Amino acid sequence: MSISYNMFEVRIRLAAIRANYRLLASRGSRLLAVIKADAYGHGLSEVALALSKDGCDSFAVGTVQEGATLREKMDAIGITGRVISLLGPMVPDDHALLWSHQIIPFVGSFRQLEELARQAAKIGKVLPVSLKFDTGMARLGFTLEDVPRLCDRLREAPLVRPVMASSHLATADEPEAQDFVHIQGERFATIVDTLHDAGHQVEANIANSAGILGHPALHHQSQRAGIALYGANPYAGTAWEHLGKGLSPAMEVRTRIAAVHALPKGRCISYGCTYTAERDMRVAIVAAGYADGYSRGLTGSGAQMLIAGRRAPLVGRVCMQLCAVDVTDIPDARAGDWAVLLGGEGTFAIRPEELANWWGTITYEVFCLLGLNRRIYV
Ligand SMILES: *Cc1c(COP(=O)(O)O)cnc(C)c1O
Repeated sequence: MSISYNMFEVRIRLAAIRANYRLLASRGSRLLAVIKADAYGHGLSEVALALSKDGCDSFAVGTVQEGATLREKMDAIGITGRVISLLGPMVPDDHALLWSHQIIPFVGSFRQLEELARQAAKIGKVLPVSLKFDTGMARLGFTLEDVPRLCDRLREAPLVRPVMASSHLATADEPEAQDFVHIQGERFATIVDTLHDAGHQVEANIANSAGILGHPALHHQSQRAGIALYGANPYAGTAWEHLGKGLSPAMEVRTRIAAVHALPKGRCISYGCTYTAERDMRVAIVAAGYADGYSRGLTGSGAQMLIAGRRAPLVGRVCMQLCAVDVTDIPDARAGDWAVLLGGEGTFAIRPEELANWWGTITYEVFCLLGLNRRIYV
């Protein structure tokens, strides 16, 4: 993205991700680091290798290609014994990579199970799998009602060996929706008990970041940490906000000011002339736009940037590679200076939750989209 504006920088602080990992590990037990979608835009291998230094030995990826890339990186530098599991869906074409790169797939349908059983029988090797259960997301996975038949099928396919049982919470980050968390938790506990009774010594996990921070009763043997590793608080703006205290955002996004000029009272700015100066203003034209993932939907949202340590509000429509901010009250702002879109130093640093609110989305999407740009590790 944005080859033409290589002044656009996504800076990743791996030390923050490591500190967040240690904080989460102190709240839970064994953590699987969720690094799908290129580690939420922070860099799959960079994040995994950094977390390995803190003893993280289990990683969950989103595609088989991500898993294979990570295994090859780890092999190349002599990191062994790490578990890589594949959360996302797969097709039979992906199977060869599972075996060759020791990736544990999440299996959530009888069809998948049959295909894997056939493959395992053909190759004559045991394939460890993680069983994925739908306890309320209604997305992928076996249901509670499927469990007896699942146990029967597993008995007939001894080469497919369940090592983990997982499910995913739909409302863990909403303090007012805890009833549903409890329903999911109970369904999952019943499923895990049934599997254990059938002799499957699976490691159970259901908690995501919000579950780790807010639901100790759902910790089971391990937890899957995603967004909180990257420093966003899943409870930001809720009554449980304090539970995410101490998490430190790892992504900073900045670019350069291309020009600064006067915008006299009564003059409008940018496409559609949607913004008209109500006083004599100074505006900075900033080298960021929707081609960099800085959404056009931020137009008119009250979004701000950080310039010379102060907040500068966005004015007019966000363009493809440019946008404008009001710097009337920031006399030091000059062409060539940095404009910080996310993060930054001091009390006015832009929190990922703030940017997500302006954007009308969640921190997950902000990280994934901005993380598609050139990244620098600091
Ligand atoms: C993405 C994902 C997670 C991580 O969730 P966070 O809310 O980011 O902590 C955990 N489990 C599954 C199955 C996921 O897809």
